[in-house]
This record gives sequence, structure tokens and C-alpha cells, in this order.
Amino acid sequence: MSRGRFAPSPTGILHIGNLRTALAAWLFARSAGGEFLLRFEDLDTATARREHEDGQRRDLERLGLDWDGEPVRQSERMDRYEDALTDLSAAGLTYRCWCSRREIREAVSAPHLPPGHYPGTCRNLTAAQIAEREAAGKPPAVRLRTEQPSVTIVDRLHGEHTEVVDDVVLRRGDGTPAYNLVVVVDDDAQRVEEVVRADDLLSSTPRHAHLADMLGIPRPTWAHVPLVLAADGDRLAKRHGAVTIDDRLAVGDTPGRVVAVLARSLGFEIPDEETTPTDLLDRFAADQIALTPWTLTPEETDAPW
Ligand code: GLU
Repeated sequence: MSRGRFAPSPTGILHIGNLRTALAAWLFARSAGGEFLLRFEDLDTATARREHEDGQRRDLERLGLDWDGEPVRQSERMDRYEDALTDLSAAGLTYRCWCSRREIREAVSAPHLPPGHYPGTCRNLTAAQIAEREAAGKPPAVRLRTEQPSVTIVDRLHGEHTEVVDDVVLRRGDGTPAYNLVVVVDDDAQRVEEVVRADDLLSSTPRHAHLADMLGIPRPTWAHVPLVLAADGDRLAKRHGAVTIDDRLAVGDTPGRVVAVLARSLGFEIPDEETTPTDLLDRFAADQIALTPWTLTPEETDAPW
């Protein structure tokens, strides 16, 4: 058994790159006889919309993907994130940070950290410096206090992956808990055993492992599936042509055809023009998943498959 999940942000219509990740996640879980959960990562209130949740559910169903129980929404689980923050703070593992993005960008980066990592400006402020910042009234973010450990995770597809974990934001200045915290809390709360997602998140995963360790919760296993790219080399987006299910149906494809093409791009040998996720279950093996990104040609984004 291996309980899995798909965790889209309901900020738009799923494109075939997202749907391919969903198909892979479903196959990992279901082929092992595991449950499969759907979680809407809707904490970005500026962009998350209920209508996108409905559309995303519908598109997953149209491909033949199902899930167990009602999907959960992160916006309804704020207590859990606050509890995790309280635990980390009680253990002395957090501090408040008043830096703006610009200040971080312009700070001379610490030599032991990769570029872009937080240089630790607010890490050891004096009481007087804290009082000054509090008086200015700008609400602080909360960061994880780390010793910048080098953390290694083992990914089922990519093998070992090591990153230095810096003082990541856990709660933004506007009060929103950060993705890096909530994903760890939710995967634990939902007892997710295997996280299957796109490999743009592989480099963040050592942070998640470190946070799980700090919170005393078991690490899940991970499998990061390569992204889908457009012919211009960018990650696939709506501007690249017929990339949603509605678009594919409009150019003449069927849902079964879309599943067949997605499956082939994942490394399956599919003799038929059309297939269903259920038909793929017996033939699924994690080690067959292609490790290079799938790059769509302009013909593939515009014409029927
Ligand atoms: N909500 C994230 C996204 O849509 C996925 C995060 C995850 O799977 O951990 O990219």
C-alpha cells in the first residue's frame, strides 16, 4: 500500500503537464493498491478560486482519475499550520524577519549559501533592533532557524539529492503560512506515504525533509516526475496552444487519446490509440518513467494527437 495525493493550486485550468503529473501520481498510488487523495492548495487568496477547483475536478474525472474521500482545502486547515509553527517556536527554531524582498536581493549573500538563500539578516537581532522594527509597524515574516544543514533526500526516480537548507519562511508577513511548511504538515496529517509531483520541486524537498525531522514526523518517500516543456524551452503554459483538456477535445482528441499520449510520454508502450488510467495499472512500473522532460513540438500543441 502506498497512499498518494495530487495537490494542485486552484489558480487556473490544469494543462496537460499538470494532468500528466496527476496521472503519474495516481498510477504510483493505485498500482500499489493505495489510496489517492486530492488536496487544493488554495492559500494564495489573490489567485485561488472555487470555480477552478470545480474545473480541475472535472478535468481529472474526464481523464478517468478518481480519488478517495472529499478533497481537502488548505484554507480550512489553518489551525494545523499554526500548531506546527507553535511547536517549532517552542523548540527555539523560529525567528521573526522584517526584511523586504529587495533587501534580501541586495544583501551580500553568505559565502556558504547558494545564491538567493536568505543571508540571515534578522537572525540575531538585539532587543533594541527588534523594538525598533516592531515600532515601525510592518508585520514580520517567521523564518526557520537552521544551522544550514546539508540535507539529503532519496527520490525514487532521481536517487539522492542534497541541498543546503537555509532559514526558509514559514509564515509570510501577511500571516499566510508558507508552502514549504504547509506541504509537510498536510502530507503528514493526511498520512501520505509517497509524494509524486513535478520535478521543479525536487530542489525544495530537502527543506521538507528537514522540517519533517524538526517536527518529529516521518518523512514520506518522493518521486519527482520531469516537467513538460514547450518548444521554446519554457515550462508548458496556456499560451503555448491547445494544452488543456477542453483545447484537446476542441482540436479533435478524445480523453482516451489524451491518456494514451500522456502515458506514452511517461515511458509506457501503448499499442492502442486510446486507453484509460485503469488499463495502465497492470503495466505500470516506476522505473520505466522517462527522466528527461517531455518537450512538445508546435504540431503537438496545435494539431490532434
Ligand atoms: N500546489 C503545488 C503545485 O500546484 C504542488 C505542490 C506539491 O505537490 O507538493 O505546483
